[in-house]
Amino acid sequence: MKAGLEVHQQLAVGKLFCACPAELTEEVTETFARPLRAAGGESRAVDAAAAFQAARGLVYRYECGPSSCLVEMDEEPPHPLNEAALDTALTLALLLHARPVDEIEVMRKIVVDGSNTTGFQRTALVAVDGELVIREKRFSISTICLEEDAARKVRESPGEISYRLDRLGIPLVEVATGPEITSGPEAREVAEEIGALLRATKRVRRGIGTIREDVNVSTEGGHRVEIKGVQELRLIQEYVDREVARQRWLLDLKDRLAANSAHVPSVPPVDVTELFHSVESGPFSGAGKGGQVVLALPLPGFSGLLRSPPDSEERLGRELADYARTVGLRGLVHSDELPGYGVAPERVVELRSRLGLGEADAMVLVTDRSRERATLALERVRDRARAALEGVPGETRDPLPDGRTRYSRPLPGRDRMYPETDIPPIRISAERLARLRDQLPERPEELEERLARTHSLPAEVVRQLVFGDFVEPFEALTAQHHPAGLVARLLTQDLPSVPSVRGDAPFAPSLTVLAAVLEAAESGRIAKEGIPSVLAALAAGAPDVPSAVERSGLSGLSHEELVAIVRRVVEANSELVRSRGDAAFSPLMGDVMKEVRGRRDGREISEALRTEIVRARSARPS
Ligand SMILES: [Zn+2]
Repeated sequence: MKAGLEVHQQLAVGKLFCACPAELTEEVTETFARPLRAAGGESRAVDAAAAFQAARGLVYRYECGPSSCLVEMDEEPPHPLNEAALDTALTLALLLHARPVDEIEVMRKIVVDGSNTTGFQRTALVAVDGELVIREKRFSISTICLEEDAARKVRESPGEISYRLDRLGIPLVEVATGPEITSGPEAREVAEEIGALLRATKRVRRGIGTIREDVNVSTEGGHRVEIKGVQELRLIQEYVDREVARQRWLLDLKDRLAANSAHVPSVPPVDVTELFHSVESGPFSGAGKGGQVVLALPLPGFSGLLRSPPDSEERLGRELADYARTVGLRGLVHSDELPGYGVAPERVVELRSRLGLGEADAMVLVTDRSRERATLALERVRDRARAALEGVPGETRDPLPDGRTRYSRPLPGRDRMYPETDIPPIRISAERLARLRDQLPERPEELEERLARTHSLPAEVVRQLVFGDFVEPFEALTAQHHPAGLVARLLTQDLPSVPSVRGDAPFAPSLTVLAAVLEAAESGRIAKEGIPSVLAALAAGAPDVPSAVERSGLSGLSHEELVAIVRRVVEANSELVRSRGDAAFSPLMGDVMKEVRGRRDGREISEALRTEIVRARSARPS
């Protein structure tokens, strides 16, 4: 397999083509609605992805916030390009050893999903031919672009999608790598390196959704598939691995379809509504009422291949259904899952005979109140079934939270670019590059070296701090004289291990709260081992650190009480201490920890236990 990444990072330098703040807001002051259609690009051809979206015939509603302006509403031409954003993109280009272009030409990239009020996204190529070297392996950086972010989707209802304008126009640096990535873990590593270089500019926005990755994956004999908009870096590896498995399954399926002489005839869908009049439950129960039709598409040679093979969670039925969903259907029913869905066995026999299906043949059924939509859905299903005969279709897929992906639209092509006539070209002067070269920020590896030196931390821990994006809180907390080792462990291990409680947002306490947790551990009120429990109690809603300590049951154990517990455990096991001597330590430590884990420091506990064992042995009668 091979893979390439596109990393999109939001910048914190205001918007790209107006003077509005680059901040998200929950305040909506007014809304307006617009339809969008697909127009031809520079080469006059209409882009496939754009035509696909326009065919959905949706209305787009836009929500304005307190600071929304006429540029964002597309009622006024864009203002000159944000110079600080360009400097940041050029700085990144220098950090990646890329070659800046002579002149910035802003282009319009046609995007007709409503996420831009203009119907296009402005984008500019800033540099080419960079490289990234990780452990002596070279990854090429093909392009570095500056683009405007799209509006934020807030709601979707039948026929209408709502977007908020606050995110529209936030500058994005887009870094595209070459296809040299050859595994899931490598994809994650490259993404982490690029993320660290972006943060090195100190001009990036932080938090969930401020960095997004598109992952392009292809396998030998397969096709390029783009997984678009991955927000969680830790899932990149999983998306890549699963996409490779999916493409292998599709290639295997292709062979099995060929062995069955499967084909997809160009006959129109068959109206079988009347066969469903008496169906009383399931998706077909409304057939014949209120204009609801049932249409069938025969798939000769597909029988048994639409459901999941035993060793895989992929199934062709789902892939076909994903295509049907793009025109607004909830799904489809195929013959590998019949009888079922309220359709009795004798009805299935009737259906098969009506469609003239043999043993090896399959069919797909859709039902909808609109005959037109049901027909369109089966046309999409037919396209997808035909693609299965060829192997892997090239497509854009959405990442799902569980690591799977789902078809979203065709791959966009070259036809969608058009010059932005409202922005004059910008020359990149030698003076400008010289100034940026003089002010190059500290590189991630220099930062690693400095942190290791200043705080005497192991290289692996420093790496986690730098590439896991923990440097800012680490420096803030160590500046308050909290011990570096404790801070590093809190940020890189304890905090990420806290399960998120409310919704999906990860637990992100303020620096003040983190400092209070560290303070509790340093003063001995809780043990270092108790920090995760205290954080979990805070995540679950404890108002402050003292109540979190109390709720997690970690408070109220003095050194004297600890010694009393240890002594009780040793006395209860006097036989074991007598027979095994020092070897009794491990089993007894286990018993003690059951009672005091997290309430006192681990070292203090083991010292108390050793002392008590020695005392018990010297006290024994000789
Ligand atoms: Zn604005």
